[in-house]
Amino acid sequence: MKTQNDITIIGAGIMGATMAMIFKKVMPDSKITIYERLNKVASESSYSWNNAGTGHSAFCELNYTPEQNDGSIKIDKALTIASSFEVSRQFWAYLKDQKILNTPFIKTVPHMSFVWGDHNIRFLKKRHAAMIKFALFEDMKYSENFDEITSWVPMMMKNRDRNEKMGVTRMQAGTDVNFDVITRGIIDYLDKNDLAEIMLNHKVKDLKKQKDGSWNIKVKNLVTGKTETTNSKFVYISGGGGSLPLLQKSGIKEGKGYGGFPVSGKFMKCTNPDVIKEHNAKVYGKAAEGSPPMSMPHLDDRRIDGEDGLLFGPYAGMSMKFLKTGSTLDLIKSLRWNNIMPMLAVAKNEFGLIKYLVGQVMQSKKDRFKFLKLYFPEAKEEDWELYTAGQRVQIMKKDKEKGGVLKLGTEIIHSEDGSLAALLGASPGASTAVTTTFEILEKCFADQLESDDWKEKIKEMIPTYEKSLINDAELCRKTRKKTAEVLGLEA
Ligand SMILES: Cc1cc2nc3c(=O)[nH]c(=O)nc-3n(C[C@H](O)[C@H](O)[C@H](O)COP(=O)(O)OP(=O)(O)OC[C@H]3O[C@@H](n4cnc5c(N)ncnc54)[C@H](O)[C@@H]3O)c2cc1C
Repeated sequence: MKTQNDITIIGAGIMGATMAMIFKKVMPDSKITIYERLNKVASESSYSWNNAGTGHSAFCELNYTPEQNDGSIKIDKALTIASSFEVSRQFWAYLKDQKILNTPFIKTVPHMSFVWGDHNIRFLKKRHAAMIKFALFEDMKYSENFDEITSWVPMMMKNRDRNEKMGVTRMQAGTDVNFDVITRGIIDYLDKNDLAEIMLNHKVKDLKKQKDGSWNIKVKNLVTGKTETTNSKFVYISGGGGSLPLLQKSGIKEGKGYGGFPVSGKFMKCTNPDVIKEHNAKVYGKAAEGSPPMSMPHLDDRRIDGEDGLLFGPYAGMSMKFLKTGSTLDLIKSLRWNNIMPMLAVAKNEFGLIKYLVGQVMQSKKDRFKFLKLYFPEAKEEDWELYTAGQRVQIMKKDKEKGGVLKLGTEIIHSEDGSLAALLGASPGASTAVTTTFEILEKCFADQLESDDWKEKIKEMIPTYEKSLINDAELCRKTRKKTAEVLGLEA
């Protein structure tokens, strides 16, 4: 007799952990199993050194607010991301309140945007004017004043010409988050209280739909080498870069035509403690024309494993692997008749991306350092070392008009009957894990989500559920203040 699960989650990163925790709250009696191929949870993209740890709230990321042809700034996406982050904060505050998360995982780090050039300065000023009309962004400061900017980021301003023109915004309420600490906290809690079965060193190899609508899941125990098949009513593929191959194996028609191209992220890490302690902000610049959003340069104050850090990047690297710990055959193995044409169409249409990637790979150590010096003119080469962070799989999708398009956000794919959902892509990523989870529940558990029972339980975790933090300014202020108190943040 096969093990029967209600819910099977593939991948023990922030996405899988968040889904498991929310399911356990709304369906306390459900039997949940999480399979993870590695011997530790949160060891791929959710691991703190593998991502930038920015609590993406659209305070500083300029790609969320594009300039329109008429010169106006479109801020819809920024509003959605900012309110999603407030939802994540409520969920984490609930987990902290419940003593499920007991290790520090979030700290206040001001978020800043920093641009040069007349066009960029005009853009930032208009962006600021459009955003401060909403409570989510009303505390954002704008400055072109050398002395004021120096008081915000003294280290970046040393050795700069006072006549250099620049535009800068600053949100004091920005955050740095250790997504792996959250993931480990949730999974430890579920494991210790027998609320879910956590199967480390177990790689999901195949998925087959059964006549009764459930799924047979073929899993290999990587320690014993034994393979077994289990059964589940619902499957959530949250395997990060490993999601695309599993989606393809599931054979669902909604997954056809998707392809992925892996790009590895690299950061320069400061090794000089005196320099590290001088910088207290996450400072985002503008990505070069045609390059993808994940290429936005940023100089980042971090706190990882209790220690302060300073990173600059990302730089992109070429790799054929879909996961940092994946195989060099991942890309080749993902090619199908139904995704080759869309991928070729993207290669043809997205010349900017190809140019950016080739440029990045060809960069010498000197070029990389030159780029850092634009942000930190007094940087010394001996204080910085390059390291490889996590892997992202850029998603490409079949498109009727263009043949294929690049999808830069998070892509949720689900079977028509709602028995399987998969998560592809990585932006805005871990920061919006809670909203993404609810979007999946809306697609696959729509009836239950409408029930009073589920709504009541969800509101215990997310008091503003079904309310708008974009339009209700007072609620937004109150909510941010409340979560700041619980999470130990500056309001
Ligand atoms: C360089 C970089 C910088 C980033 N910066 C930020 C940031 O500043 N802020 C932010 O919010 N987000 C950021 N992100 C995105 C964020 O890290 C990811 O969106 C998030 O961690 C994804 O979580 P996940 O659980 O989906 O994937 P992961 O954390 O990668 O977890 C997936 C897990 O699935 C497992 N798995 C895969 N296949 C199988 C299989 N067949 N069987 C069993 N297990 C399997 C893997 O081993 C892995 O542990 C960044 C990402 C990168 C790469």
